[in-house]
Amino acid sequence: MEAILTRVKLLQGDITKLNVDAIVNAANSSLMGGGGVDGAIHRAGGPVILDECRQIVARQGRCETGCAVITSGGNLPAKFVIHTVGPVWHRGSCNEDQLLANAYLNSLRLALENGIETIAFPNISTGVYGFPKERASHIAIESVTQFLSENDQIKQVYFVCFDEENYGLYNSFLNY
Ligand code: ADP
Repeated sequence: MEAILTRVKLLQGDITKLNVDAIVNAANSSLMGGGGVDGAIHRAGGPVILDECRQIVARQGRCETGCAVITSGGNLPAKFVIHTVGPVWHRGSCNEDQLLANAYLNSLRLALENGIETIAFPNISTGVYGFPKERASHIAIESVTQFLSENDQIKQVYFVCFDEENYGLYNSFLNY
């Protein structure tokens, strides 16, 4: 566990500023952009990202909950954007925990396939999708560390918290 945690870093701020191989977008199934981190990524990355999303949807349809797709990073410092769709929270009655873990794991699998070594995640589903933050932080950290223990290509994972509450939760869980 100690060795794995050296490959995990906690940051607070705007994920669009990061110079990493890939940043992950908490997208919606349409892949046509939205609010929150999705809006910030499309604004900062420019229209190329949306164009690529349109092509993906034309080819393979919507991105279902828990799945992930990849585009270039457009004008972002990141080379790629991995768009994943977290679950909307329905009081835990719709397999949300597993779907949230799938969003993290499928993003990491896509990262492996694309030779990505450094990747940054926002706190998927904890904004408008309403997933309880503490519960989401445990799922995020557990699924990512489990994946890292099984694969050594990915050198660094950043959890990028935008709000103080998420930052505090990740900080206490990672340093406990
Ligand atoms: P979801 O629909 O998956 O809940 P949101 O974008 O509403 O997605 O929220 C997901 C998380 O992203 C929230 O914790 C929110 O505070 C955070 N967030 C919003 N903007 C940014 C940003 N520019 N960089 C990093 N995280 C962000």
